[in-house]
Amino acid sequence: MLRFSIRRSARFLSTAAEPIYRNPPPIVRNLIGGEFVESRSVESIDVVNPATQEVVSKIPLTTDEEFRAAVRAAKNAYPKWRNTPITARQRVMFKLQELIRRDMDKLALNITTEQGKTLRDAQGDVFRGLEVVEHACGMATLQMGEYVSNVSNGIDTYSIREPLGVCAGICPFNFPAMIPLWMFPMAVTCGNTFILKPSEKDPGAAMILAELALEAGLPDGVLNIVHGTHDIVNNICDDDDIRAISFVGSNTAGMHIYARAAAKGKRVQSNMGAKNHAVVLPDASIDATLNSLIAAGFGAAGQRCMALSTIVFVGGSRPWEDELIKRAKALKVNAGLEAGTDLGPVISRQAKDRICRLIQGGIESGARAVLDGRNIVVPGYEAGNFVGPTILADVTSDMECYKEEIFGPVLLCMQAESLEEAISVVNNNKYFFSSSRTVFKYLYFCHLTSPNYLFLLARYGNGASIFTSSGIAARKFQNNIEAGQVGINVPIPVPLPFFSFTGSKASFAGDLNFYGKAGVQFYTQIKTVTQQWKDLPVQGVSLAMPTSLRT
Ligand code: NAD
Repeated sequence: MLRFSIRRSARFLSTAAEPIYRNPPPIVRNLIGGEFVESRSVESIDVVNPATQEVVSKIPLTTDEEFRAAVRAAKNAYPKWRNTPITARQRVMFKLQELIRRDMDKLALNITTEQGKTLRDAQGDVFRGLEVVEHACGMATLQMGEYVSNVSNGIDTYSIREPLGVCAGICPFNFPAMIPLWMFPMAVTCGNTFILKPSEKDPGAAMILAELALEAGLPDGVLNIVHGTHDIVNNICDDDDIRAISFVGSNTAGMHIYARAAAKGKRVQSNMGAKNHAVVLPDASIDATLNSLIAAGFGAAGQRCMALSTIVFVGGSRPWEDELIKRAKALKVNAGLEAGTDLGPVISRQAKDRICRLIQGGIESGARAVLDGRNIVVPGYEAGNFVGPTILADVTSDMECYKEEIFGPVLLCMQAESLEEAISVVNNNKYFFSSSRTVFKYLYFCHLTSPNYLFLLARYGNGASIFTSSGIAARKFQNNIEAGQVGINVPIPVPLPFFSFTGSKASFAGDLNFYGKAGVQFYTQIKTVTQQWKDLPVQGVSLAMPTSLRT
């Protein structure tokens, strides 16, 4: 069995010279004002290797006092950092991208150990984040304002995109490097300072990235990291000094954060859950389509927000099933550190139990389990949270397995008579979740069930793809599908950072998406300046509203 080899010499771990699997596991430190500091909290949460159940480290439940110290550090660092020339801020990003490349293997190893995905996939996780850092290297151009000369006689107006102040980011478990990198590089290069809360399940990659950011020259206090769960998140939502929050994670947390932080006047961008569909037409290229469906459905054990969850086969799934099963069966399920692994474990025992419950519910509701991966045993990793590739056919939209985001290696097969019917199935996907009253107004409609809680009905809109050789069908799909990210013969259509991550409907709350132009807009506010420099005779006082007609 391969062992995790990062030593406690990492500055973000509590001190000792032992490999981290020895007892006791190290505590992950907070980063406050440029120092990695041990929390005084007596409460902690285990970070568990999902392939072995070994405790890799522990994260502290950061105290209120420590949280306030982190915000103070960010607030104190802000005036100097916002006045640092943008070229200097960009240079930190140039250096950071170089250091991330240097430490790619270390980052990937940490991700595989804490999150479970394969080493190759972990490198992809880092690389997709690295592309955002590269994008931030061009911030001077991205952050440019506008200028209109002579809007009136001798008067010009120009706009400046200024940073907001202290911003914060709250991360999910499934992309431990990419998602922190969606957040702090864009925010700080715009001139903000930042408080990052990594996922409590796999904080290691964020900590390595923070070490690299300091090595790249990010001044003390510009990036701060605090660990914890609900309480620290609520502190972030409530704090008067934090101006904006970037969140990625589930709908329950995302809508709570959106409502709570917006009530405090904060800007929020909240990327949430998904039910991503592929529509397969009979004229699709068979081999390429099958490979795409397998890769998008089972890659990262289905734990990607853009993972393919449901295939709608126009004309029925039967002609595709045998090959789909054959290719899914050929995938190697093993620990992510082992060579040749296609899919690793899911994040936790609870996640595995939930996935298995949803598969069972689907079967009991009439779905055909044409491939069932629930009982898989991986030699050498018997304690791991493994679920093998699973395919349910004859799924209908009223089944719980369809209405819930499964977030595991499970492909659901549905059928439609026509492209129009398939589009309608995708657009009408429904799911329910319970949430506090304050949240409901942000979603489409709801069913009241108790005085304090509402069961909300919403429709995901993250991604949808079509597989076809017909340009006409593809165009119709593109125009009528209600998903923020559309693929045409592309299974996971996540745009590169010069565009934005454009999830929509219940998969996103807010007005400005992550990265790209919208990302810069999110982390900046516009100031317009109107200036008058004219060499004209003084015309006396006029109390009328100035207009460009009277100059
Ligand atoms: P999660 O919502 O459980 O956790 C995300 C963060 O929110 C964590 O830092 C956690 O500590 C915090 N949190 C969780 N519950 C909370 C609560 N009730 N109150 C306050 N804070 C809370 O999500 P996860 O399980 O880590 O990640 C998986 C989810 O993230 C999936 O739904 C997936 O679709 C989604 N996701 C979406 C995108 C996207 O871009 N749309 C990308 C990645 C993941």
